[in-house]
Amino acid sequence: MLYTIPDYYKEFHCIADKCEDTCCAGWQIVIDKKSLAQYKKVQGDFKWRMLRSVNWLTGTFCQDTQKRCAFLNGENLCDLYIHQGEKSLCKTCRQYPRHVEEFEGVREITLSISCPEVARIVMERKSPVAFFRFEKEGEEEYEDFDPFLFSILEDARTEMIQILQKREVSMRERTLLVLGMAHDMQGRINRQEMFDCFTVIEKYGTKNALAFVTEYANKICTTKEILPLAQALFEKQYELELLREEWAMLLQESEILLYAKGEAAYLKIVEEFEEWAAVHTSLDIHLEQLLVYFLFTYFPGAVYDGEVYAKVQMTIFCVWMIRELWIARWLKNGKLLAIDEMTDLVYCFSREVEHSDENLKRVEKMMEKKWLL
Ligand code: SF4
Repeated sequence: MLYTIPDYYKEFHCIADKCEDTCCAGWQIVIDKKSLAQYKKVQGDFKWRMLRSVNWLTGTFCQDTQKRCAFLNGENLCDLYIHQGEKSLCKTCRQYPRHVEEFEGVREITLSISCPEVARIVMERKSPVAFFRFEKEGEEEYEDFDPFLFSILEDARTEMIQILQKREVSMRERTLLVLGMAHDMQGRINRQEMFDCFTVIEKYGTKNALAFVTEYANKICTTKEILPLAQALFEKQYELELLREEWAMLLQESEILLYAKGEAAYLKIVEEFEEWAAVHTSLDIHLEQLLVYFLFTYFPGAVYDGEVYAKVQMTIFCVWMIRELWIARWLKNGKLLAIDEMTDLVYCFSREVEHSDENLKRVEKMMEKKWLL
């Protein structure tokens, strides 16, 4: 079995009671069958606590009115862990913030940026991220798995990450190159011209491709209205399941700050933010790390549905949404934005989208329509 991890994997350590936003609140944790069976057998003093703290019908941990897990104590520590030991944790609690994507003979493990500590590591990271691969014993076969498509996707993702990490090229052009590659691959996949995908992958690494997207970028910037697209994409967020009430308020406030005054005002805000951020932040590096994070995590999932273009649009949509939230917060703060606030917005966005399988599916579905290009 092959395992892949990002090079910052071992940097992560849970900061437990020092965490500003514990993962044991705000989302419904589903208990795996094995742990549920183990919880039913608990005896002694802890038995009654266990009986009261698990919703045995839904197989989830009970929550209080603040949506805090019933085992989370006043010091933000887990009473289940304290009284029954580490092994008593269910699969979700044991793994989090590790996120595993499963493919035949391959496990890709990332750290979820919905954890504030992981978001901090990613946001403070300056050098390009690398991924390590190692092998462990174990083999498996999936009934319905296309290893050839998977190898195409792996090659494409490697090339896309290399493009995203080309710091001498502007962020807009890097993004367009990746989007263009996905677009052209999608056409080949739809027509079952699978071998041609390798030609597409190679083509997008060349200077000619860069010259083409530079010209294309200049053309769309002068001929297209940006605001209707920005607003339509932003409003897609309201179609998702809401995990925290504060999130709806943040979205509404940001939408008004950004879009209420029309196209010219919006473009001016974005331009001013970019000028400010170029001096006061490492904006392009943050965007690069986030694009690499989302692309690495979700792109190979196209092996199950063939939706290569949707996966790349989803990557860009997620990072663009985070950037919109940064711009809105910068405006609200009187044109100031600290790295801590940027990091908070990263993990809050990720919690809303990545903590809900339903939301992930909805975003993927929304991105099947061609929004960009
Ligand atoms: S969110 Fe991350 S740092 Fe905070 S308690 Fe959970 S795993 Fe630990």
